[in-house]
Amino acid sequence: MESINPEDPSRPIVVVGSFNVDHVWTVAALPRAGETLSGEYHTGPGGKGFNQATAAARAGAETTFVCALGDDPGGALARSLAHGDGIELRALRSHAPTGTAGIYVDAEGRNSIVIGPGANAALTPGFIDAQRDCLQRTRVVLGQLETPAIAVQAAFAQARGHGALTMLNPAPADAIAPAALWALADIVTPNESEFCTQFERHLGERLDVQTLASQDDAALHSLCRRLLPHGSVVVTLGAAGCFVSHPAESLRGDAHPHYRVAGASVDAIDTTGAGDAFNGALAAALARDPHAGFHQHVRYANRYAALSTECAGAATAMPRDTDVRARFGEIAATGTHPAPP
Ligand code: ADP
Repeated sequence: MESINPEDPSRPIVVVGSFNVDHVWTVAALPRAGETLSGEYHTGPGGKGFNQATAAARAGAETTFVCALGDDPGGALARSLAHGDGIELRALRSHAPTGTAGIYVDAEGRNSIVIGPGANAALTPGFIDAQRDCLQRTRVVLGQLETPAIAVQAAFAQARGHGALTMLNPAPADAIAPAALWALADIVTPNESEFCTQFERHLGERLDVQTLASQDDAALHSLCRRLLPHGSVVVTLGAAGCFVSHPAESLRGDAHPHYRVAGASVDAIDTTGAGDAFNGALAAALARDPHAGFHQHVRYANRYAALSTECAGAATAMPRDTDVRARFGEIAATGTHPAPP
């Protein structure tokens, strides 16, 4: 095994995941079967992997994004956007088209979405293994469930073997994380519906979002402990911030095994991609200062994600580290104690 220096500030983060071209139509009402409507159209980059890589890079981390792209204008868009944000792109060139999402949004902000995974579905463990040079020097590797789980699993196995932290955002909510991938995650970051999906998958017990939301902190902590006994769980709670739960044997520099961090106060206009902002920023913060208490990183991610909701869009709405510090100030080091709410 190659030896790594944990103090090396040049250790990057690696995001493994999807890139989509989003096609969005804003309509008065969502179309019914057989109906033809006209709506206002716009297009832009999306995909959880790319959104999170953009957030990580703008939060200040040296970021590598490993993905699969078609040989088409969507693939060219990914390359030029990654270049613009200083993201190192490692893309498998697929014969399939670059991933797409067709999104209708109605006047009340409800949406209907069809995803065409395209090239995203072509990411292979073999291509991941060929990126071992960056996976062996990464401090944090971050994956989601919009690309084949076996590819994310290969990245986690490779990076973990070299001392990196593995972070799984188990999204989207209808995707299941296989047990072998789950076992390799040091940290998982579900929102409430993703928590319920994975809870049912891994423990065989139904749990709904209302029941989850009604749990007090001790009960939520014990659900988290059952869901990922060996690792930390960060449940994102929208405007309410997030809940953190650690195993007793690994508090990641915190003094308490569980606590809440309140959401930052912002004028939210579009929460699309808030979870992606949170994940990218948390990974960047963990990579930047691995010795700080985990609560400091979570507070940063909370602020970063909150600020992302003040602009429309996902990847394009990701703020820069300087914007976050200018808006909220610096996060004071508070030793091993969680910050007060
Ligand atoms: P997802 O986008 O995956 O559904 P959440 O809705 O839980 O995830 O949001 C992720 C994070 O974004 C939250 O933990 C919080 O930090 C931030 N956030 C989301 N909505 C708001 C809001 N209205 N005000 C402040 N912060 C928000």
